[in-house]
Order: sequence, then structure tokens, then C-alpha cells
Amino acid sequence: MIKLKRRTFLKLSALTVGATALGLGVTGCSKETDVSIDGFPDMPETLGQEVEATVDLQSGEVKINSDILVKSSVCMGCYSSCGVRAKIDKKTGRIMKLTGNPYHPKCAEPALPYDTTIKESYQAFSLHGDKGLTHRATVCARGNSTFEQVYDPMRITTPLKRAGERGSGKWKPISWEQLIEETVEGGKIFAELGDDTVIEGFRKIHNQDELINPDSPEMGPKSNGLVWISGGSYGRINFAQRFVLNSFGSTNFYGHTGT
Ligand code: SF4
Repeated sequence: MIKLKRRTFLKLSALTVGATALGLGVTGCSKETDVSIDGFPDMPETLGQEVEATVDLQSGEVKINSDILVKSSVCMGCYSSCGVRAKIDKKTGRIMKLTGNPYHPKCAEPALPYDTTIKESYQAFSLHGDKGLTHRATVCARGNSTFEQVYDPMRITTPLKRAGERGSGKWKPISWEQLIEETVEGGKIFAELGDDTVIEGFRKIHNQDELINPDSPEMGPKSNGLVWISGGSYGRINFAQRFVLNSFGSTNFYGHTGT
């Protein structure tokens, strides 16, 4: 067993977490990272992935990998909306990894000022300058894996229309054009199931001038006939709210956590 001083061990731990968190390579310390610590598995420096940039430990020189694209976004793994950086393989277009965004106040302490250059952000992520954990951005384990949702084979990517009795659990995929046409124009949209009920479309109920029921004016205009019950946020709720409340003019917008 190789004996390590506590300080060396802490440095190695910080290097492993910092370098692998971003797929970031740090040059100038390969001799130390070859050391195997008894009881810990050997950790490949880059987990087998190409790194997006390398930072020279001594000089701080940053070399960007032109094969990798890095995009800033927001994690939708829960409602905290942490900032993330997505590492994308330019050849395949696939997301390889998600890490914390060092410019985001939920991910780094303190967050990098917005006028920090990208190269300086890589330096902040490295051991150059011995800044310790300052500016080193992270997200939780769930946040690291949320990009898998993009490639989930169960992900619904096309509109589904009921293809059987209500509650039968039968659905069929339809085009976006059909969805828009039937939602806007309405009509006997379930006629093929033997249901001749006329469903009013958006065009018919988009009306701010007439009341839903003249005997009950408190119900407001016909536009209030659009009742929108929202699911989880996932970044779309603000668009839906703007459409229902502002464009359409209905007051009936409900989040799934409100009544
Ligand atoms: S990184 Fe974690 S805490 Fe932050 S939004 Fe994603 S799942 Fe939530």
C-alpha cells in the first residue's frame, strides 16, 4: 500500500472530483494521478470521454477541444432550476455529460461574474492558481443524469389522440398539423370511434365580447371556456400561461400544485 500524506490525498480527491466533473483535463500532474489508493478504485482521468478543454496546472494555459460543443442551459430534474453546462459531441450531436455552470449562483460559491471569459471559467474549474473549491460548479447526482431523458425510449415526442373509450388507455400518434387543426377548429373529432359529439374548438370559444351565460355574468366571457390544467413546469409553463391568460383571455389557468 502506498502511504499518502493527508494534504496529498485531499489534493488528489479535489483533482478527481474537479477534473472528472467537467470532463476537464488537467495537465502537469499525471504522475500523481497514477497513484492507486488502497480501498479506492482506480479512476480514469476522463472516464473514457474526450475532454472539452485542458488547463496547464503551472501556466494556466487553456486548450479548447474543437470537437466538443458546450452549451449552457437549466436543469429540469426538479424545481430548483440549477444552471448546467451540456457537453456535446459535435460529430454525433449527442450530449455526453452535464455539469454545473460556474456562472450560476446555485452551482458555484461564489458564482463567476458574467464578464468572465470561457477560458477563465475553465481555469476556475482547474487546480491552476490553487483556488480550491472557489467557483467550482457542481450539480446533484440527479442533475448529472437528467440528460438521459432526452434519449429515453419511452419519451413521448408526438401528439397522442384517444383511440378508444375514455379510460381505455388506447392512444394513437397523430401529426402536429392534425393536432392544431382539431384543437382550433373542433368538430366531430372522435367520429371514427362512433362518437358524434361536436367538440368546440379554440376558434369558437375565443370570444371576449359575449358572456358564457348571460344569466350568470360572473362566469365572464366565452374565452373563459378554455380551462388549462398544467402539468409539471419543465420550462414550458410560462409559455402556456402567456397564451392562456394574455393571448386567449381566459382566467382559467391552473398549475398541478394549485386549485
Ligand atoms: S441539479 Fe439537482 S437540485 Fe438542481 S435542478 Fe437538477 S435535479 Fe434539481
